[in-house]
Amino acid sequence: MTKHIFVTGGVVSSLGKGLTSASIGMVLEQRGLRVKMQKLDPYLNVDPGTMSPYQHGEVYVLDDGSETDLDLGHYERFTNSPLTRDANYTTGQIYLSVIEKERRGEFLGKTVQVIPHVTNEIKACIAKLADDETDVVITEIGGTVGDIESQPFLEAIRQFSLDAGKENCLYVHLTLVPYLKAAGELKTKPTQHSVGQLREIGIQPDILICRTEKSISREDKEKIALFCNVPDEAVIEEKDKDFSIYEVPLSLVEHGLDRLVCKRLGLKTKEPDLTQWHDLIHRLRNPKHEISIAVVGKYAEHRDAYKSIYESIDHAGIHHHAQIRIGRILSEDVEADGPERILHSYDGILIPGGFGERGVEGKIEAIRYAREKKIPFFGICLGMQCAAIEFGRNVVKLENAHSTEFDKNTPHPVICLLDEQKKITNLGGTMRLGAQTAHLAEGSIAKNCYQTETVSERHRHRYEFNNVYRSQFIANGMMFTGLSPDESLVEIVELKDHPWFLAVQYHPEFKSKPIKAQSLFSGFINAAIERQAKFRNQKNDGEQTTSDGPKDNSSSEFEQPTS
Ligand code: GLN
Repeated sequence: MTKHIFVTGGVVSSLGKGLTSASIGMVLEQRGLRVKMQKLDPYLNVDPGTMSPYQHGEVYVLDDGSETDLDLGHYERFTNSPLTRDANYTTGQIYLSVIEKERRGEFLGKTVQVIPHVTNEIKACIAKLADDETDVVITEIGGTVGDIESQPFLEAIRQFSLDAGKENCLYVHLTLVPYLKAAGELKTKPTQHSVGQLREIGIQPDILICRTEKSISREDKEKIALFCNVPDEAVIEEKDKDFSIYEVPLSLVEHGLDRLVCKRLGLKTKEPDLTQWHDLIHRLRNPKHEISIAVVGKYAEHRDAYKSIYESIDHAGIHHHAQIRIGRILSEDVEADGPERILHSYDGILIPGGFGERGVEGKIEAIRYAREKKIPFFGICLGMQCAAIEFGRNVVKLENAHSTEFDKNTPHPVICLLDEQKKITNLGGTMRLGAQTAHLAEGSIAKNCYQTETVSERHRHRYEFNNVYRSQFIANGMMFTGLSPDESLVEIVELKDHPWFLAVQYHPEFKSKPIKAQSLFSGFINAAIERQAKFRNQKNDGEQTTSDGPKDNSSSEFEQPTS
């Protein structure tokens, strides 16, 4: 019998429900349980694919091509839960399905209502994940208790325990216990109110996880327990982690969360094996190198826009025992101030994916700088397209070369639309999406990193390298080291005469984990460490550091390696 855990949030948004749900999943897996993760989002968009990164952070892409909420990234980084389309439903998707059923006459003339038709649809989406291969399904409800949009989801999970049996369902509520400086104390009232709201709609949480800046005293825990109608042991503290998010599961175990979950759900398991996770925290706390990587993008100031990229850089840092300062750089600043001023102190430059023209010229300038100064460069999706534009313009000398995404009338469309994309007018779910295979060239950096002949990586783009230009580019020193199986699509480009210049049409950042860094990120960070060491040695040997070497950045503040 599959057990269900429902995770809700109260008091404020952005409490880290995704991270907490992923952490619960991770510790249950380490206890030997088979876990599936799911997120239900109360917004009306059918998926986040058409939402601006300013609104919703990055769009996380799964193998099957679904464009999902970024919390699914946490799920994949923390657990081995197989994630497919069923792992993320929005209100938009639920209503679309109900309305389509109504149009097909499936409700036999009944009045179609939120209860029971919408709630039934939601319950079916949850029940879909329960099967013989799954011990626990963890369903996170987006939004905050009290939001109008969340109501049907909360009602559905309330009803769910009536169908599945109370003993098979567990309700975990994440709240905030704020510290009031003026009063010099933690305040439990918001938590009491939030649980009060949940109880009004018929959900009595079994476990409260309390986000807090300061440790919660015994008395405060007892007070929360009494007012919220739970035993003392069910009030679990989740103190802010300013060092690394990967400490969250370890601290939840310390506070007894996993043991309590198993006890409540009647799950008999071994104790969790957390060796790998303790090891990664040890590596983070004891770095042997300190390097800096510039991520030059259009949304650099928004922490969540390139979430998986920042995480993947950190994973590679963990792998190489390196503390990495990530410079989040607006590509428009590179346009305004020039690359030298902004990028001279970095050991590696990464250009992430993106859409739209704003800041593209800054990205192209940053790539030129990395190419000419032989700084390790990693381009991702639009980053690869910009690398092709830069090479086309400045090396192959194709004047005004561009992508037709930004200049429809460019004389040299080195990046263009394939015929099948030209016909598409709808935006949602119409890109080249999901896992695709690439063949790697012998002797390439890519093959050296992956150590395999073929790889499967996730895509999310419309435009492609224009094959008309392949031979000209090759003649000038660009190498196409990753191609689709029929060789019609360029997946990876590299440069001759550069220590580490690699760009990919896909998104490797969606397959990196803290305990298993993605191969290309690992190679990129290794190249950055080597470059730094090389210039440090030159300096120690009394040689002048040339302008091609990194400037001393020891005075700059190193940020914490994880967000
Ligand atoms: N805008 C580009 C395209 O659609 C790149 C997309 C991306 O970087 N994800 O092809």
